[in-house]
Amino acid sequence: MRTVFPSPEVTPGHRPPLSARRKTSCEPIFSTQTANSLAMIIITRPDATEEQIQHIVSRIADWGLRAEVSRGEMRVVIGVIGAEDKIRQKPLGAFPGVESVMPVLKPYKLVSYEFRGTASRIKVGDVVVGSKEVVIMAGPCSVESEDQILSIAQSIRDSGAKILRGGAFKPRTSPYSFQGLGKVGLQLLAEARRESGLPIITEVMDTKDLELVAEYADCLQIGARNMQNFSLLREVGRTQLPVMLKRGMAASIKDLLMSAEYILSEGNFNVLLCERGIRTFETMTRNTLDLNAVPVLKAETHLPVVVDPTHGIGIRDFVPAMALAAVAAGADSIMIEVHNAPEFAKSDGEQSLLPKDFADLVRRVRCVAEAVGRAV
Ligand code: PEP
Ligand code: MN
Repeated sequence: MRTVFPSPEVTPGHRPPLSARRKTSCEPIFSTQTANSLAMIIITRPDATEEQIQHIVSRIADWGLRAEVSRGEMRVVIGVIGAEDKIRQKPLGAFPGVESVMPVLKPYKLVSYEFRGTASRIKVGDVVVGSKEVVIMAGPCSVESEDQILSIAQSIRDSGAKILRGGAFKPRTSPYSFQGLGKVGLQLLAEARRESGLPIITEVMDTKDLELVAEYADCLQIGARNMQNFSLLREVGRTQLPVMLKRGMAASIKDLLMSAEYILSEGNFNVLLCERGIRTFETMTRNTLDLNAVPVLKAETHLPVVVDPTHGIGIRDFVPAMALAAVAAGADSIMIEVHNAPEFAKSDGEQSLLPKDFADLVRRVRCVAEAVGRAV
């Protein structure tokens, strides 16, 4: 089979430093072509044979274009990417097995649902996000100490969480607030992963820290404040690590999709989109969790959708209601901040659930998930 993009299901196991891994990561897709790039989709007939599909893929590669093969339940969709003048000359509709060919007209091409014609499943460690199961991510806002992270990791795992969160590099409004433990925090997360078996998601704030964070993380978090840090987006796009991109607090849904396009255009299709609340005129809550984003994103993109109700509402007592609402709205995953001693937390204690309240929430999430045809 010809080289196409790496499958969206990439399992980062034990990882060599990023500099070594970069050699094997895929080449940029649009970034070297920019101005006149085009994405076309070839929809194959339901009875197209594997041989016909492979023939199309190999011809596309011979022309110096890229092909992304997506296998839906009914048919195979082949996304073709390259310079517009090159693509337009090619008789893509002439291959046997092709039903139709059309351009992706949306400004976000690689992230658009039609580019794949099926939902992507992204693997974080061994956990799949984007399948029937609603994946629960949980953990403290910041990693603070060995006792803290080990104890929280164990309790959330026992309650049903599948991914451990915790910030080692913290984006804080004030430069005088706790900024995270940095490398020590990453090492503590790795220890918590070993003890709990849970894969970890942690934030990378700066391109200069990416090499280090990527040595530890199973999934990189790009925080709301960095959603339009385009050089950071491009850098994480050159890895094959899963990336969870959080919506900026003043960003539209379209802005979020365009930012995700930066990551995919560098060759990394392992992207999760996260709704975490936006700034509105409302002052009774920290942010306004825009659950409209869930069905809209599910329709517009093949990427899985995560909801963070903790930052979305910002008040502990109200987090469970919004977590349940997120699952009812169709979220593929929810991220919840949990702390064993919130009154002593170095960040976001006021919105963190106690482990026992988290356990109770998981039980209720399970009921809602089942009611909407999902599972936990
Ligand atoms: C966080 O997850 O702790 C965080 C800082 O999130 P956001 O970037 O959404 O504010
Ligand atoms: Mn937080």
